[in-house]
Order: sequence, then C-alpha cells, then structure tokens
Amino acid sequence: MLAKIINGKKFSQEIELGISNKIKMYTKSGRNPPGLSIISIGENPASIVYIQRKKEACQRVGIIFNHWNFSTKTNENQILNLIKKLNTDSLTNGILVQFPIDQKFNSLKIISHINPEKDVDGLHPFNIGCLVQKKPIFRPCTPKGIITLLKKEKINLRSLHSVIVGASNIVGRPMSMEMLLEGCTTTITHRFTKELKRYTKQADILIIAVGKPFFINKSWIKKGSIVIDVGINKLKNNKIVGDVDFISVSSKASYVTPVPGGVGPMTIVSLLENTMIAYEKTKNYLFFSPSCG
Ligand code: NAD
Repeated sequence: MLAKIINGKKFSQEIELGISNKIKMYTKSGRNPPGLSIISIGENPASIVYIQRKKEACQRVGIIFNHWNFSTKTNENQILNLIKKLNTDSLTNGILVQFPIDQKFNSLKIISHINPEKDVDGLHPFNIGCLVQKKPIFRPCTPKGIITLLKKEKINLRSLHSVIVGASNIVGRPMSMEMLLEGCTTTITHRFTKELKRYTKQADILIIAVGKPFFINKSWIKKGSIVIDVGINKLKNNKIVGDVDFISVSSKASYVTPVPGGVGPMTIVSLLENTMIAYEKTKNYLFFSPSCG
C-alpha cells in the first residue's frame, strides 16, 4: 500500500483565491480592506519565519498586515496597552499574539485582553469556551486547518477513533474538541502517557503534534490509518521535516500529510479565513463588551 498524500498547499491556494476575490469585491465597492495585526515578543527564529509566512499570505490576498515586535525587556503593560488600542481601531479586524512568548509574561492575561471579536487565533478563553460548548466561532488555526483539509479530501470522520499525540493549547487540546465535533471517539495523549504505542496503533486517524523529528514510523500505526503530521522541525542540515517518518509511514497508511506542504499552509489559510469572519462579522455570536480587556 502507498498512502495518498494530502496536498495542503493545493487546498490552501484554492481557499486563498476565494478570499482574494471577496476582498477585491469589497474594496471595489469602496470598503477598506481587512486588517490583521500581529504582536510578537522577542526574536524566536521559528516565530520570525511563521510571521513572515503570514505576512506573505496577507499580501497575496489583500489583507493589510501590521506587525509589532516587543523586546523581552518590555513591560507587560505596554503590550496590554497596544492590544487595547487595536481592540478599538476600526481598521484592525484581527489581532494575534505569536506564541511561544517568554515565560516571564502572563500569556493568559495577554490573550484575555484581546477583544474576542478580533481573536482570529481563537485562543481567547471565550472562543475556546465556545468550541468546548460545541458552538465554535473563532477556531484555533491549526486544528481548523486540519479539519478543512480532511473535509476537502472528503474523508468521513464520523465514528473513527482519532488519537492525538500532544496536548498543547494551540494544537492538541483544541484538536481534540474538533475531532469530538466531527463524531470521532477521541483519545488525547502527551509526554506522560504510558505505552504510547498502544494508543497510536489503535488510531483510525492519528494526529501528531510533538515537535520531534521522525517520532512516528510505520511500527507505530495501524494499517490503512490516516496520519496527520503537524510537526515542523529543522534538522542540522536546515531541512524541514515533520514528526512523522514520511517514507516509512507512507507504506502502511491510507493517507498522510507531507511536511512541508501539508498542515502548515492550512494553518495560515485558516488565519486568513478567521480574519474574514472578523471583517464580515458573518458569525453572529453573543458579541459582548470585552470586559476582559
Ligand atoms: P508544545 O511543545 O507546546 O507541545 C508538545 C506536546 O507534545 C506536549 O503536549 C507534550 O506533552 C507532547 N510530547 C512531548 N514529548 C512527547 C512524547 N515523548 N510522547 C508523547 N507526547 C509528547 O508544541 P506545539 O506548539 O503543540 O507544537 C508541536 C509541533 O507542531 C512543533 O513541531 C511545532 O513547530 C508544530 N506546529 C506546527 C504548526 C503547523 O501549522 N503545522 C502549528 C503549530 C505547531
């Protein structure tokens, strides 16, 4: 068996085209284009690359991109003050804080200051709460991108056993909620899971977000399973690889996502989609005044 490669790059380009056409339509009719503001703290090399990719994607579709970078020596209040300003700026539709940030900052406090109506990363406790309550509005970008990818590939998830390796706030945890929404029986595993292989081998769909190159090879998976590789790891020779040994897993799985070109582009296009939701206010949710700010 040779697994079908799920082409996230192709799907993301299709979605981008739709977004770009919509923005052209809005701006032709005299409306300002959507605006996305990214806040980063420090100089994390991976974050610099991700922010650059987000910027390029915004430029491709016509979203105005702004980036504020703070030094790690910054007083947290300066960051909170910028967020408050952006919360009421009519040209800013989406606000995102690029993680990870230095541990000296209170990340929950910072996220909670973002107006939930502009929380295009879907990490504000209100938006995470809505996802848990089965009424998602802004959904975290990587899990949302994975669901879009699977739907584009016309994979029916209902009743499958999904196993997620990794339980972070931005990937594993919200991913488990997304899989429940799709009707999967969901197991979430992490660094303290005993006998991890026992779980991965039971998975009809295995989603790995650990951050360790070649962590999963074919001996860890069930024959015919769907394998989604979230990991992005830079090797010493500068090659980018996922958490999955792609060649090994391809000989046993039914579907597999490549790195690069799988989940990564879908994460970015989900951010564009979320920015459009904020811009169009298509989701008519319980807009409440951001008292959390
Ligand atoms: P994280 O470090 O916050 O979380 C890693 C998770 O893996 C933790 O829950 C930890 O318990 C678990 N883990 C670590 N070692 C383990 C082990 N031996 N067995 C089982 N579980 C183990 O990382 P993150 O932010 O979730 O990112 C994970 C990976 O995904 C990284 O490579 C990151 O670069 C990548 N990523 C990719 C995208 C994308 O768009 N493709 C988006 C976000 C993150």
